[in-house]
Amino acid sequence: MSLPEGLERDYPLARLTTVRTGGWGDYFARPDSAERLAELLAWSRSAGVEVGVVGSGSNLLIADDGFRGLVLKLDGLLASIEREGTQLLCGGGARLPQASARAARDGLTGLEFGVNIPGTVGGAVKMNANAYGGDLAEVLEWVEVTTPTGTDVRTPADLGFSYRRSNLRADEIVARASFALAPAEPETVKAALADMRARRREAQPSGIKTFGSTFKNPDDPRAEGKSAGMLLDQAGCRGLAVGGARFSQKHANFVENRGDASTADVIALMAEGRRRVRERFGVVLEPEVQLLGQVDAAPIFEA
Ligand SMILES: Cc1cc2nc3c(=O)[nH]c(=O)nc-3n(C[C@H](O)[C@H](O)[C@H](O)COP(=O)(O)OP(=O)(O)OC[C@H]3O[C@@H](n4cnc5c(N)ncnc54)[C@H](O)[C@@H]3O)c2cc1C
Repeated sequence: MSLPEGLERDYPLARLTTVRTGGWGDYFARPDSAERLAELLAWSRSAGVEVGVVGSGSNLLIADDGFRGLVLKLDGLLASIEREGTQLLCGGGARLPQASARAARDGLTGLEFGVNIPGTVGGAVKMNANAYGGDLAEVLEWVEVTTPTGTDVRTPADLGFSYRRSNLRADEIVARASFALAPAEPETVKAALADMRARRREAQPSGIKTFGSTFKNPDDPRAEGKSAGMLLDQAGCRGLAVGGARFSQKHANFVENRGDASTADVIALMAEGRRRVRERFGVVLEPEVQLLGQVDAAPIFEA
């Protein structure tokens, strides 16, 4: 069977993630239109090739052995941002901070929470991303989801949102999304963004290779309201290292690749952090980060 145009073989995937670990993908493509995306998905279906989609890779751990399938990264029209009245129409591959900044410039409010989330619109929908008490579901009007069998439109009510989760499967790709925003003074919205950026600089490390929060904040009375970062810190994990991976000195719930970390190092470090928190507080932490490829993840998921 001939390969679709633009398909690359044996693609190094680590560069597609912010933590920069992981091996090679068998196939890689950057579809830049709905038609190209549909074509690639149809090919994957007929060739029996598994599909994975990567946004900004800011919440993603890729197996050291890579991915025996097709990795897609949305580009071109599928990463565009357009305004229509008080709606912001975004490709699934559009970067969320850019969408927030565009909304601010155009005098639209509601998307401010996205300014510090270094992911794409599609990744944010998949992860039900949030910050500063914002609410993705409240401003998300609809998403266009493309799968190997076709495209359909879903509303937030269809997406099964819960804390950092949606019901989207690995081969269900958010190709486009519409945000319904409200008119506001551009200067007021821009000032809110500046304030959020400053608050974030205070609280989190910058310039490191990380995928942000490693574990979700627990909903367990034994945590006594402490965040995952506080629990890890009090369990002695701040600065703890395994191989090239280390819990950040500035924020214990951030894993940092010190340069030569493997995904196996990251998993081993997460397992150790989780073990310490369980031993000290009886709280079982749940990973927030997503996995692609055959990662031996039992140590970070088992009860
Ligand atoms: C420094 C830092 C700070 C962060 N702060 C926050 C924060 O404040 N709040 C927060 O919620 N998160 C935060 N994150 C985590 C991350 O940015 C979010 O989860 C983001 O939504 C992930 O988007 P992405 O495009 O990078 O997705 P990726 O990491 O590329 O992928 C994550 C998952 O989404 C899927 N996916 C990606 N694109 C699509 C698509 N188009 N359609 C369907 N599925 C898709 C992937 O297959 C994967 O399962 C932070 C991360 C970092 C590194």
